[in-house]
Amino acid sequence: MHPRSSVPPVGAHIQIKGGLAKGGLPYIDAVGAAAAQVFVGNPRGWKLTAGDPTQDALFTAGCAERGVPTFVHTPFLVNVGSPTEATVEQSIASIAHNLARAGRLGCEGVVVHAGSAVGEDRYEAALRQLRERLLPVLDGLPDGAPRLLVEPTAGGGKALAATVEELGPYFAALDFHPLLGVCFDTCHVWAAGHDLAAPGGMTATLDSLEATVGPGRLGLVHANDSLDECGSKRDRHTTIGEGSIGVAPFAELLAHPSVAGVPVVVETPSELDGSPTAGHARDIALLRDLRDGTAAAEAA
Ligand SMILES: [Zn+2]
Repeated sequence: MHPRSSVPPVGAHIQIKGGLAKGGLPYIDAVGAAAAQVFVGNPRGWKLTAGDPTQDALFTAGCAERGVPTFVHTPFLVNVGSPTEATVEQSIASIAHNLARAGRLGCEGVVVHAGSAVGEDRYEAALRQLRERLLPVLDGLPDGAPRLLVEPTAGGGKALAATVEELGPYFAALDFHPLLGVCFDTCHVWAAGHDLAAPGGMTATLDSLEATVGPGRLGLVHANDSLDECGSKRDRHTTIGEGSIGVAPFAELLAHPSVAGVPVVVETPSELDGSPTAGHARDIALLRDLRDGTAAAEAA
């Protein structure tokens, strides 16, 4: 595993109104993002969008020029653990499509929610399904393909992986495939019951993540504060420092060895004071200050 020695670049889930390059690049510049995550289709639908070759090429070049690592997030409907065959089929098609799109765009990873078994006593069946349906997709990827980053969910409704420890059987079902990684969402793991706000809580959670899946698997962090209490199983993101997690755990996150060199993006409210981007600009600046140790007053 290559040594990750650089500081984590901080960015956002970007908006791309008007096109990936036309909307996305000005957004990256407006919020000061050093990393970016995008949807390459309707996040609430199944449609597989081909993309505009001109916009795609401009976006890839623009991000490379800026040194901004990029990630694609799959649609929310994706659930490889579903008991409904049509959903599993569409989920696999969507993951394969997003991996191919991300590969052409030069992205580092594709984020997919860990999913849910949905019904009672389906956990083992859902893991078998993961193995039978998703492992061939991973095996078919070319060398240098983006990694598939599994994101533990908030823990509602028979989640397949909500706590970081639940990634153990999930990774085992997929043979710890070399192109498998993790997207760690602070709001989700908080909702799943990891007490990130206790002193050392973030560090302990990230230690446990690394103990479960091994070093080098963390590919992306979603840095979000939460509107709900620890263990709520609810997934409502808010501005960093204005929720129940608070600012200090994010300093702990950015100092953790597992996060060295790993991109961190916010999925917090983008608007602030009437500006469509000021919320993200503020959160990115705050996280950058925490990372660089220049936000002592706020973190105290
Ligand atoms: Zn997330």
